[in-house]
Amino acid sequence: VSLIKVENVTKVYESGEGQVTALGGVSFEIEEGDFVALMGPSGSGKSTLLSILGALNPPTKGEVVIDGIPVYQLKPERRADFRSAYIGFVFQQFQLIPYLTAIENVMLPLAILRYSHQEQLEKAKSVLEKVGLGNKCSRLPNQLSGGEQERVAIARAIVNEPPIILADEPTGSLDSKTGEEIMRLFQSLNREGLTIIMVTHNVENLSYVKRALYMRDGLIDKIETNPGALREG
Ligand code: ADP
Ligand code: ADP
Repeated sequence: VSLIKVENVTKVYESGEGQVTALGGVSFEIEEGDFVALMGPSGSGKSTLLSILGALNPPTKGEVVIDGIPVYQLKPERRADFRSAYIGFVFQQFQLIPYLTAIENVMLPLAILRYSHQEQLEKAKSVLEKVGLGNKCSRLPNQLSGGEQERVAIARAIVNEPPIILADEPTGSLDSKTGEEIMRLFQSLNREGLTIIMVTHNVENLSYVKRALYMRDGLIDKIETNPGALREG
């Protein structure tokens, strides 16, 4: 069964210059355990689709069904609870709190969910170890490299054990070697069962994913399975 069903999703933005159709009626399904790259030129609708998948941006028409739950039929408050239980976000600019240490940044989602301080510390420590930062828990973000900040952002996204990770150009601001290390980290999380959907412009990243979904002008142009092998072959 599909973990995520996108059903004929349309998104029209109102702007100063009139209406912009960002998504023109998009349907597809994602199985549990998939690792999907969302590709396509700037303006093709990738960020819009990601935010709609993340229960952050109501479609103009259509529905997103995750684990059997029609996300946009939920009232905003219940949708926020749904989001924190099901979705971990990794943003391109990391969005770490600059005056909190690495471990405090990772504890934050658990604090919001009212875990005990001890549980917050233990879980945050264990995910920071998992992403290879066990020895840098007390650093502030500006005392970490770009790749390390990215790892903190990933740790924060997974600490609450959501089944789905959404990432917007997670390697966009990293050099290629660091980007590869981050892709290997995502791949190992995917092998542990996490479903990952990632916006990327980098074709090198295709060798790590299971499927590539190409967008053009607010529509899905094509979906490739095992795109890395296609490129190598
Ligand atoms: P990218 O091309 O990297 O996906 P964009 O610069 O297109 O990023 O968009 C970044 C964010 O800015 C989007 O998520 C969207 O919410 C907002 N945005 C993009 N285009 C517009 C626009 N024309 N008017 C208002 N907000 C916009
Ligand atoms: P991509 O991520 O592929 O660059 P986006 O989803 O950011 O594409 O944008 C798709 C289209 O929707 C673009 O024409 C963009 O300018 C427009 N758009 C995105 N967000 C907004 C917004 N908040 N308000 C108005 N237009 C937007």
